Amino acid sequence: MAIKKTEYQNALAKYHHKTSRSAAAFAKSKKYHVNGVHHNIRYFEPYPFVTKSASGSKLTDLDSNRYTDYWMGHWSLILGHAKAKVARAVSEQLHHGWMHGTVNESTLAFSESICKTVKAAEHIRYVTSGTEATMYAVRLARAATGRKIVAKIDGGWHGYTSELLKTVNWPFKTPESGGLVGSSNIISVPYNDIDGTLDILRRAGKNLAGIIIEPLLGGGGCIPADADYMRSVQEFTQKCGALFMLDEIVTGFRFRYGCIYPQMKLDPDIVTLGKIIGGGFPVGAICGKKEIMKFSDTNAHSKTDRAYIGGGTFSANPVTMSAGTATLEILKKNGSGIYSKIGLLGREAGRKITKAFDGRVVVTGKDSMFMPHFTQKSGIHKVKNASDAAKCDTAALYRYHFSLIARSGIFFLPGKLGAISDAHTKSDVSALIAATEKYAQNTA
Ligand code: PMP
Repeated sequence: MAIKKTEYQNALAKYHHKTSRSAAAFAKSKKYHVNGVHHNIRYFEPYPFVTKSASGSKLTDLDSNRYTDYWMGHWSLILGHAKAKVARAVSEQLHHGWMHGTVNESTLAFSESICKTVKAAEHIRYVTSGTEATMYAVRLARAATGRKIVAKIDGGWHGYTSELLKTVNWPFKTPESGGLVGSSNIISVPYNDIDGTLDILRRAGKNLAGIIIEPLLGGGGCIPADADYMRSVQEFTQKCGALFMLDEIVTGFRFRYGCIYPQMKLDPDIVTLGKIIGGGFPVGAICGKKEIMKFSDTNAHSKTDRAYIGGGTFSANPVTMSAGTATLEILKKNGSGIYSKIGLLGREAGRKITKAFDGRVVVTGKDSMFMPHFTQKSGIHKVKNASDAAKCDTAALYRYHFSLIARSGIFFLPGKLGAISDAHTKSDVSALIAATEKYAQNTA
């Protein structure tokens, strides 16, 4: 008797069949690069397709397969791939040189846009990744307070600096990597659990320099923070003289023109930005109140009293500054339309994915960002932190995403949250829902 193939086996066979050029190219990539990739999460089984080009909401691979993209460049491309106005700004900049290594005029318009709308950004320093921005935030908090301990969230991802690479993956007990020495001055608190968090922060007491939090846990499961939780943490830090730092690298300019923190009635000392603000070019920004940022000023403080912030050959490079300015201009001009459209599409996707799986998934997220969690057999009914997300059937999410890639030309980085861009259409989302309904039926 023939054994019935599973949905996953069918998807695998289809993927192998349609991605032969990618398979060969990826084999070559493995020859030169560790596991063939340069960001660990870009690898998925059996091998990732190799992209040839991207435009609007679509990626095209080497075999000319097209995918509607919900990964969108690590969620950085809110306007879609290769947005013409951003491309024009970059190409214009190229005529004037792309790497000055001096103070650039192009930085000014960019900063003016950010400072006008992000109140906490009284002073800014640019870097070329979110990782650097959060690394500097930690250093600055210590220099400004003269204290050592910095708190982060269980499941919080702030990039790959040796210090913040701690308690990222549940059960948060083992080191996230070999080669890490001494992150004993980083402590970790449970997200959205005010009693649990304050208990730990109180123990740090007067040694607490600050806490760094994502207002929506991104890598940890696309889980919005409770505003009450955030306000209580902020109040605690203010009372004990520690800094309240928000990592808005994912959320900045994602849900509105500006940061999400004013909607939560927060008043952070430091905000880190990245992703969207660079228009798809490498960026990170450390923004903060002047009284705090001055601790990095080489004119105001002696070397041992200040935080060293301000290295990076490509910091504030003119290409990123121009792409970022063009992106923010578009978001400022058309923001209300863009944010309401992508929010509507994202909420619709979340609702209909929930319905299609008929009780098997809980979808978390906010507006244009969403992530299904296969809660069956986990005993979890509400996903409120990274532990809950990790206890769900993450392999089932991976298989669902892979099937979308293989059978329906829809790309989510397997296991990761999805983001809608302004280039996505209603029919893109309808196709996602139809493919999901089919997948749900086949795996019921
Ligand atoms: N903070 C958050 C909240 C992030 O999601 C990320 C990246 N996904 C980072 C920091 C690190 O940014 P980068 O990858 O640009 O270094």
